[in-house]
Amino acid sequence: MARPDDELELLKGEYPGATYYLRFDTPFHLLLATILSAQCTDVAVNKATPALFARYARPEDVLASSEEELCGYITTITFFQAKARHIMRACAALVRDFGSEVPSDLAKLVSLAGVGRKTANAIQQNAFGIVEGVIVDTHVIRIAQRLRWTLQKDPERIERDLVAIFPKGEWKRLPHLLKAHGQRCCTAQRPACGRCPLRGTCPSAGKV
Ligand code: SF4
Repeated sequence: MARPDDELELLKGEYPGATYYLRFDTPFHLLLATILSAQCTDVAVNKATPALFARYARPEDVLASSEEELCGYITTITFFQAKARHIMRACAALVRDFGSEVPSDLAKLVSLAGVGRKTANAIQQNAFGIVEGVIVDTHVIRIAQRLRWTLQKDPERIERDLVAIFPKGEWKRLPHLLKAHGQRCCTAQRPACGRCPLRGTCPSAGKV
């Protein structure tokens, strides 16, 4: 029976280029991109953000705009109207409570509209280089459960299991590897167990 760290090494060998895919240049722009990325592909977000970023450099630019104008930049994004409302509210909080800067503190980040723990971890890690947890997205949930790295369903409990299993040095890379594996092999429907590098030890191989 393989240990999770052996399985992680196999994933590293399979996906050496796995990395964070959302494009951004400032913490504020990463905040916008991560709010847009909920239940939306990175490809779609990366297509929409160049024009959005050029129009809105600071939260004040968003507040001086209108929700209608903001929506015009993100119509290709799933749930764009709800996300525009989240962005407006998050920008108001940035100006009011945080001196117009995106905070690096996890508790402050999750206080912003549209920012859950997954988003906050992504901003902390990629904008500030601070790693306090594991980004738990739909790929991480599915594959960690299939590999029995966790028996939990709640994302926060899954994150707790993962930070207990893996050393801190792996926390940032782990979700990138699982996302690559989830997109190319361990898909939600009909995973390709026959060509999976983990098939020898995965308890779910051939059973999903
Ligand atoms: S063996 Fe199948 S279920 Fe297990 S990780 Fe690989 S693709 Fe996913």
